[in-house]
Amino acid sequence: MIEVQHLSKAFGEKEVLKDMSVTFEAGKTNLIIGASGSGKSTLARCLIGLVPPDKGVVLYDDRNFLEMSLEERKTIRREVGFLFQGSALFDFMNVEQNVRFPLDMLTDMTLKEKNLRVEEVLERVELSQAGKLFPRELSGGMKKRVGIARAISPNPRYLFCDEPNSGLDPQTSIVIDNLIHEITLEYNTTTLIITHDMNSVIEIGEHIIFIHKGEKCWEGDNDSILETDNQEVLDFVYASSFMKKARKQKPQSEDQGFH
Ligand code: ADP
Ligand code: MG
Repeated sequence: MIEVQHLSKAFGEKEVLKDMSVTFEAGKTNLIIGASGSGKSTLARCLIGLVPPDKGVVLYDDRNFLEMSLEERKTIRREVGFLFQGSALFDFMNVEQNVRFPLDMLTDMTLKEKNLRVEEVLERVELSQAGKLFPRELSGGMKKRVGIARAISPNPRYLFCDEPNSGLDPQTSIVIDNLIHEITLEYNTTTLIITHDMNSVIEIGEHIIFIHKGEKCWEGDNDSILETDNQEVLDFVYASSFMKKARKQKPQSEDQGFH
C-alpha cells in the first residue's frame, strides 16, 4: 500500500500538484488518469523521489519515504518495478539479459538463481521461447511483455507503469492490461498505472483517480466512472469517438445504464 497525504508541488509559480491525498492499495490496479499536463508524471516522480515535493507525506506500507536517508530510500526503490513508456529495453542485450539486468544490479543472487528466475518470469509472460532474441526481432506487444518480465523479475512489492499501452493496437493493449492485472493479483503488488486509454479504464480500472490541473478531482472505479456527473471526467471519458457513440446509444429513460 502507498499512502499519499497532502502532497503539493510547484515549479516556480506554477502549482503542478495541489494538496493531493490518495491511498493505493496492494493487490489492485490503481489507475491515474487525466489530460496531458495535469500532473500525473509529476505525482509518480514525487513518489519515487525523482522530484522533491514542497509539502506532504508518502508512506510505503507505513514507511515514511520523504523522511528517509538516501540509503534507506534505496531499499524502497529496490522494491519498485518500473514498466517504462516505450519498453526501454537495451538493444544490445537479448531478452534474457534484459530481464536479468535488474537482478544483476539489485541482488546478490547466484547466476544459477538468476537464470532460474529469468526462466520463471519469461514463462509467466509467455515468452519462454524468445530468450535469445534481441529487441529488434520482437513485435511491440512482445517488447512490452519483456518489459513486464524485467519489471517483475526482482519480485517487486510496488509496480509503476507509465502508459503501458502507448504504441500498441487495441487487442494487444488488452492482453498487456490483463497481464498487468493478473500479476498484480498473483504477486499482491501495489500497482500504479498512468494511462490515457479508456479501454484500460473500463477493463482494469479497479481504483481510478482523475487528476485535473494538479488536483484529484474524482476517485472511483470502472463502474462509477460511467455514472459520474463530474464534467471534467465526462469530457475525458467521452473524448474518444467510440465512447461518444456508446453514450448516444444509451436509452434515454435509463441514462446511466450501459454496462
Ligand atoms: P502529465 O504527466 O499529466 O502529462 P506532468 O506531470 O508531466 O503532466 O506535467 C504537469 C505540469 O508540470 C506541466 O505543465 C509541465 O509542463 C510542468 N512540469 C513538469 N515537470 C516540470 C519541471 N521539471 N520543470 C518545470 N515544469 C514542469
Ligand atoms: Mg506524463
